[in-house]
Amino acid sequence: QKAEWEKLKNEATVTADGKHFDIAANIGTPDDLDGVIANGAEGIGLYRTEFLYMQSEELPTEDDQFEAYKTVLEGMKGKPVVVRTMDIGGDKHLSYLPLPEEMNPFLGYRAIRISLDRQEIFRTQLRALLRASAFGQLRIMFPMIGTLAEFRAAKKIFEEEKAKLVEKGVEVSDHIQLGMMMEVPAAAVLADQFAKEVDFFSIGTNDLIQYTMAADRGNEHVSYLYQPYNPSILRLVKHVIDSAHAEGKWAGMCGEAAGDNIMVPLLLGMGLDEYSMSATSVLRVRSLMKKMSTADLKELADRAVNESITNEDNKKLVESYINK
Ligand code: PEP
Ligand code: MG
Repeated sequence: QKAEWEKLKNEATVTADGKHFDIAANIGTPDDLDGVIANGAEGIGLYRTEFLYMQSEELPTEDDQFEAYKTVLEGMKGKPVVVRTMDIGGDKHLSYLPLPEEMNPFLGYRAIRISLDRQEIFRTQLRALLRASAFGQLRIMFPMIGTLAEFRAAKKIFEEEKAKLVEKGVEVSDHIQLGMMMEVPAAAVLADQFAKEVDFFSIGTNDLIQYTMAADRGNEHVSYLYQPYNPSILRLVKHVIDSAHAEGKWAGMCGEAAGDNIMVPLLLGMGLDEYSMSATSVLRVRSLMKKMSTADLKELADRAVNESITNEDNKKLVESYINK
């Protein structure tokens, strides 16, 4: 099987009925690029920049960050690279940036909430990204956006830093797409409103499932509630995709579910545009998609979203389709 997959390395991802979808890879550091290229990913759908901060003894400087982002953008040779601004907090801590003790860290001071509060850290990261944008196709997204006010505030800061650099004569791309992670249920419910203001959505199922099901993604005692195919999750996902498309925007997914054999047929049926996963999953999913026909899957996804009641129902629905 591995040998079969290997042959797909330099192929585009096209379904049996000729539809093209993008399979991108998730990375944590520039060192992960080799794996991305070796597995023929069509871009990077999630660069988790918090590792840059976690591997350092102090806040990474603008220049350190610029070098890392430039390496990734150049390495991808013009293919899209979605960089997520830092997602610290939750379970990710920095020794040099003491965060408050919290009762519920995953519901607390995390990601964009820190960035909008500690703006000097955020502005430094955005400047490094803006400078690197001259070296490839950069897209930026913000993690844990829950309200439009947060997205607008982040975008405003981005525009301010961009204007300052342009003023100084620094070369900056004029085609940087600005998007957001869809991982907070409040935002997913209002996706139709957000879609008017963003360039794209990337659905973070790891958190979206945790917050929608109110079940800690790492707690074994409640892991039975961690249900990717639960119709509640699928309805949110479908609403996010439909809302993006209604405004002419694209929607991707960068949570684990994007590379899941049961989820992929459902996502194809819902018309998800981009699938971002660990590099080692890219060829398996490309091979799976090549066998699928989106026309059939649309009906399958409609049933999963509208008729099924449980996670198990949907797992069986897809399995019986695949084994047909
Ligand atoms: C997610 O929440 O699905 C996601 C991709 O982000 P992270 O796993 O880094 O929280
Ligand atoms: Mg997340």
